[in-house]
Amino acid sequence: MEKEKRMYALVTGGSRGIGRAVCIRLAQMGFRVLVNCVSRVSEAEETLRLIREAGSDGEILQFDVSDRAQTAKILDAWKDNHPEDYIQVLVNNAGIRRDNILALMPAEDWDKVLEIALGGFYNVTQPLLQPMMFHRWGRIITLASVSGLKGMPGQANYSAAKGGVIAATKALAQEVARKGVTVNAVAPGFIRTDMTDGLNEAELVKDIPARRFGTPEEVAALVGFLVSPEAGYITGEVISVNGGLYT
Ligand code: NAD
Repeated sequence: MEKEKRMYALVTGGSRGIGRAVCIRLAQMGFRVLVNCVSRVSEAEETLRLIREAGSDGEILQFDVSDRAQTAKILDAWKDNHPEDYIQVLVNNAGIRRDNILALMPAEDWDKVLEIALGGFYNVTQPLLQPMMFHRWGRIITLASVSGLKGMPGQANYSAAKGGVIAATKALAQEVARKGVTVNAVAPGFIRTDMTDGLNEAELVKDIPARRFGTPEEVAALVGFLVSPEAGYITGEVISVNGGLYT
């Protein structure tokens, strides 16, 4: 009897917010989910509990996506422990905001936001590409933002990082399309998570045609579709989930 093929998905920053909702969605689709976290392991453990509740299983992989050596070490160790498997789905979700007008922005806030979003894109995606291409099936989805499409005042660092991952997505999509790997970006508007916790929601929703913030589950549903077999001909796209904001 042929051994059942295990399907693995890695979600960076999967411990809370949009990342957690994506982990649960992928678990519902039958993937074993590798939950990346950088700290606060208890949050990742809660995600893992929810993955199991959804009927699948997974592991916690602790590394800082902006740390190239640490990321490579953890991914190499995973490969060594799973010689017959590969990671079919990567969701580059880890990200931070350090908002300020550029005139007042400390260099470390510029660097950190880019190192995590743009550096993280390279550090995690690059080592997973060869196995996806070899097996001729892979899905790479990166969390961008409407800030990366439009450029937001007070967020030059974040806008640059998210605009950067959109461009990298479009470039990589063309490099790997004939190898059966799709590469797409999802650009949320305002989604209710820890990242938007301190914002004045009542004021901001006046500019959102849907008059509300979105939920992590509404973003995860799109990620789930992009991972599904039905989305195999969609690549190099950036799809926004924003309640009509900026459209
Ligand atoms: P969040 O702050 O709730 O979660 C971010 C996750 O990234 C956390 O799990 C955090 O631990 C992880 N992370 C941060 N730095 C990391 C690092 N160096 N290495 C590994 N993990 C790291 O935020 P969220 O709202 O769930 O955001 C998820 C993604 O969606 C981010 O890329 C964010 O930029 C993007 N996004 C969010 C919104 C929104 O309104 N919430 C809008 C547009 C885009």
